[in-house]
Amino acid sequence: MRYISTRGGMPPLPFSDTILMGLAPDGGLALPESYPQISRAQLDAWRGLSYAELAFEIIRLFADDIPAADLKDILDRTYRPDVFGSAEIAPLKRLSDGIAILELSNGPTLAFKDMAMQWLGNLFEYVLARRGETLNIVGATSGDTGSAAEYAMRGKAGIHVFMLSPNGKMSDFQRAQMFSLQDENIHNIAIDGMFDDCQDIVKAVQNDHAFKARYKIGTVNSINWARVVAQVVYYFKGYFAATAGNDERVSFCVPSGNFGNVCAGHVARQMGLPIDRLMVATNENDVLDEFFKTGRYAPRGGERTYVTSSPSMDISKASNFERFVFDLLDRDGEQVKALWAQVDGGAGFQLTPAQLRTVGERYGFCSGKSVHAERIAAIRRVDAEDGVVLDTHTADGVKVARELRRPGENVVCLETALPAKFAAAIREALDRDPPRPAGFEGLEALPQKVTVLPADAAQVKALVERALSR
Ligand SMILES: *Cc1c(COP(=O)(O)O)cnc(C)c1O
Repeated sequence: MRYISTRGGMPPLPFSDTILMGLAPDGGLALPESYPQISRAQLDAWRGLSYAELAFEIIRLFADDIPAADLKDILDRTYRPDVFGSAEIAPLKRLSDGIAILELSNGPTLAFKDMAMQWLGNLFEYVLARRGETLNIVGATSGDTGSAAEYAMRGKAGIHVFMLSPNGKMSDFQRAQMFSLQDENIHNIAIDGMFDDCQDIVKAVQNDHAFKARYKIGTVNSINWARVVAQVVYYFKGYFAATAGNDERVSFCVPSGNFGNVCAGHVARQMGLPIDRLMVATNENDVLDEFFKTGRYAPRGGERTYVTSSPSMDISKASNFERFVFDLLDRDGEQVKALWAQVDGGAGFQLTPAQLRTVGERYGFCSGKSVHAERIAAIRRVDAEDGVVLDTHTADGVKVARELRRPGENVVCLETALPAKFAAAIREALDRDPPRPAGFEGLEALPQKVTVLPADAAQVKALVERALSR
């Protein structure tokens, strides 16, 4: 299996090269030359597998430059009941209205990002050791990504993490989660500024090519193909859990921001998993909803990206979206390159009516939107009817799934976080605190390790230098 770029300008590379790469040299995103096709016999054989076994069967198709025994070992160490809270790893529950919830947030940081990031940590450690290399991750976070990355990389040989976050802008819970890590290879940097300032500093560090090469600077953002591949696994798991046999079809509803989660659903569908529809749920930041309804893709700048009560979806430029458009355009990299030149120039693009029909009919996509009052109402209703407290992002998904569901359609909503992370919105909806999973009591009282810096790339670079020369 070799990987090409969505912009057509990269010679095919093996899996292990693409995962350390970030963007492709031509500015595109890595995708396999073709999707492996899963036969009915394979589906039948996979139905009874454990999560780690299923992950091995699927990921080995994409990561074929890693010896099978090594890959199996990495996956067995990753998808463990003691890390993800149950032998099922991703259990499915059915609400009384018939919609199912696939639980993906029982990992160390209580968001679905752990499902992929825990594997990425073990994979990075393995690949770096094999190559005799080291990696220093410099990233920016407004919450979930940073904590998932830190919990995945903590204590890993050959890896340091420098995570920038806006000083005082995260929830107490998120701050405590990250800053209470005492591992020597984890460095929290609170920047006096906004999330955008943090991201600008990361870009400045990445663009200092001499610094980047000297200190082996890398990223862990959601365009990493290894993360997408790990997410493909739970679509299979969710399909098996929601059906009695492999003749049935399932639709998935996915709370979306950077389009990484639902992109994995698209890959699973292209591999032949019997997925009916892929429902993209957005919040007030509805660039993707507009696209799937009208064929117009018009990403917005920061000034038109709203701060909402489902903050992990406050994104107006979905970085993984280019992967789907590449498939939609029959993998014509030149055309993708031309469209993204329009996107980068601020103009966006518009599909033809025939192309827009293909998005729904051939690729199964549809979409919906949920705003603050609707997500609060969804949280209240599911609490009252089922005694289940949803987080705000998952509530957006449930709201959209109810709206789009056709009679008899078997819909699985992907849970993207637990409500404990977003206590203020839960108090607004239910007038009480969200349930807190065992092991997180007293989190805010633990000692915290963080360095506060002004929004100045030079000072961040100096901190990285000092930490790595110790
Ligand atoms: C990251 C995140 C999302 C968005 O997922 P994408 O892969 O970026 O589409 C939704 N909800 C939560 C809680 C998240 O952390």
